[in-house]
Amino acid sequence: MVASKEKLLEVRHLKKHFEMKKGLFASSKSVLKAVDDISFSINKGETFGLVGESGCGKTTVGRTILKLYEPTSGQILYKDTPIEGLLHKEMLPYRKKMQMIFQDPYASLDPRMTVGEIIADPLIVHSMYSGKERMDRVKELIELVGLQRDHLNRYPHEFSGGQRQRIGIARALAVEPEFLICDEPISALDVSIQAQVVNMLEELQEKFGLTYLFVSHDLSMVRHMSHKVGVMYLGSLVEYSEVDELYTNMQHPYTQALLSALPIADPDRAEQSERIHLQGDVPSPINPPSGCAFRTRCKFAMQVCSEEKPLLRDIGNSHMVACHLSNQ
Ligand code: SF4
Repeated sequence: MVASKEKLLEVRHLKKHFEMKKGLFASSKSVLKAVDDISFSINKGETFGLVGESGCGKTTVGRTILKLYEPTSGQILYKDTPIEGLLHKEMLPYRKKMQMIFQDPYASLDPRMTVGEIIADPLIVHSMYSGKERMDRVKELIELVGLQRDHLNRYPHEFSGGQRQRIGIARALAVEPEFLICDEPISALDVSIQAQVVNMLEELQEKFGLTYLFVSHDLSMVRHMSHKVGVMYLGSLVEYSEVDELYTNMQHPYTQALLSALPIADPDRAEQSERIHLQGDVPSPINPPSGCAFRTRCKFAMQVCSEEKPLLRDIGNSHMVACHLSNQ
């Protein structure tokens, strides 16, 4: 995986808030801040890993970049072109360049369509190829993901979870995208199948120069796949750096807790390392704690943590941390 210095995607101060009714008949509304002021960039050929516990907003980031959700505010730049305000028709060329691999290979494939129809569908939507050429492209794609041509006439329920995810990947690749959002692409699969799908994603990246946003709660897999990693907590990025820097010099107490749960192969190091147990659950994004959103679970919390939201700050080496401890 050799990444270039050319910026493919940049997200600036992105917010996605959802208005929620307080009760069935209530007229008052509250706001769920699923993504709250996030900025990062991804270079061409690079994998940016986005990690955090379930409900931290990482999936919403991916869906908002693709404009499956309209952003509340902020900018999304694709090759320096702002796309956040584009209308559906204007967005079509970008939808072709940016595709998504979904978490649940069972739910993401239409059970009434054959595999051939599923893979051909985006080619029809984007008016690519026709007749025999389109069929040849579909055959090429099914083989690219390690399945066979005679699978094209079958239905999704006839396949295993791993095979269905391969079909989802073939569908995503059909329109020759440059950028793939992989939303927990292996979390619904058996452990024995996960490595096969990850290896295939790496081979495809190498072969086609693809750029990935890899969304996952699995820190080992994110380390394996990514060039850069962002750690999300309650809608915000709390730490962000090159992968080796993050995994060897993690600064944010939340990142430290997440990484302390990873198994260590070396028995001596494993004995010395201390597992940090996070107290309680992630607070509601409808009513987040004041100041630092992590303060209700942080053993280092100080007075200032409840008064001021810590901003992401570069501590050197392009390593960004949002914690008052890093300001001392
Ligand atoms: Fe903990 Fe305070 Fe840092 Fe938040 S800002 S992570 S509460 S020390």
